[in-house]
Amino acid sequence: IPEQPGATLSAAKLSIEKTTSPKTKIAPEKLVFGHTFTDHMLQVKWDATDGWLDPKIVPYQNLSLDPATCVFHYAFECFEGMKAYRDAEGKVRMFRPDKNMERMKKTAARICLPTFDTDELVKLIGKLVALDSNWIPSSRGYSLYLRPTMIGTQASLGVGPPSSALLYVIMSPVGPYYPTGFKAVRLEATDYAIRAWPGGVGDKKLGANYAPGILPQRMAASRGFQQNLWLFGEEGYVTEVGTMNAFFVFQNGAKKELVTAPIDGTILEGVTRDSILALARERLDPAEWDISERKFTIKEVADRAKAGTLLEAFGSGTAAVVSPIKEIDWHGEAIHVPLQDGKETGVIAETMADWMAEIQYGQKEHPWSYVI
Ligand code: PMP
Repeated sequence: IPEQPGATLSAAKLSIEKTTSPKTKIAPEKLVFGHTFTDHMLQVKWDATDGWLDPKIVPYQNLSLDPATCVFHYAFECFEGMKAYRDAEGKVRMFRPDKNMERMKKTAARICLPTFDTDELVKLIGKLVALDSNWIPSSRGYSLYLRPTMIGTQASLGVGPPSSALLYVIMSPVGPYYPTGFKAVRLEATDYAIRAWPGGVGDKKLGANYAPGILPQRMAASRGFQQNLWLFGEEGYVTEVGTMNAFFVFQNGAKKELVTAPIDGTILEGVTRDSILALARERLDPAEWDISERKFTIKEVADRAKAGTLLEAFGSGTAAVVSPIKEIDWHGEAIHVPLQDGKETGVIAETMADWMAEIQYGQKEHPWSYVI
């Protein structure tokens, strides 16, 4: 990454302009993911000469951009998705914001957008969350979804590194993903379209990675599946599910294996994925469990289902935390995934959801929970 001249991003230089017309809040149970936004947003401009300009918190507002702006033509855009939670004492906590900011920095660098001091951005986001914390409903299951975004703002059609950029953060209160308990999903395995490949950019959180994923998802939906399972290569390696990482539980003789695809360019480095792996390594008995980041194919999953050694499958991501899977259709063959009796989830998915929630809602103090 070339050296960036000019000022570095600095939380100490923040100015705050409060809204004079706060929005009316809708009832928490009516919230639809990503439709409602809080009263304020963070904005920080950057240009190639001066570096990062002074950060500003301003009332939530439209952006005004020249139609030639490079984000509209060459997709100079990256984003993050993370959450803040209100704990039982009323304190507000962000979950692993440092991880998301590290990922955003790597993604920005990949498309020649400016990098930044991640600690400073975490501090700035903390100030924004604190200002609008009255938007976080206090009931369990609710949270504030944070959407840090960066766009190239240079208004010219030449293809090259943007000489100016805008970093902004907007926030949306969200309800529980499963308001009436887990609901396991049916997936369609997709091999005619490839989401990510080694040496590509599918492992980065670029807006440009997401639009092309919608059509295969829509095709799967037209055949009655809630999501698609992304495969890679002639071998049919399992990579991700929709916009989540994918976990499987296998029985290998006397031991069980929790397995997910390795970080090899074909998956996004999910923060939830990382957290589940860390908790599994820390808390599951190594005499009984192997925790693996390894390649595995859809054929292995199908064979294990037939042999009775496929125990569980689930997706992991910020929005749902875990999303249990009950069936995968692979070229017309239905792979059935067992669930606990009378439940819409397997035992490991449920355990992980509980362990994560305890940390996110501050029931258990943990270094991943960042009190603001
Ligand atoms: N894969 C993709 C493609 C995603 O968009 C996301 C959501 N960011 C994830 C996995 C899960 O990542 P995380 O746990 O950081 O939300």
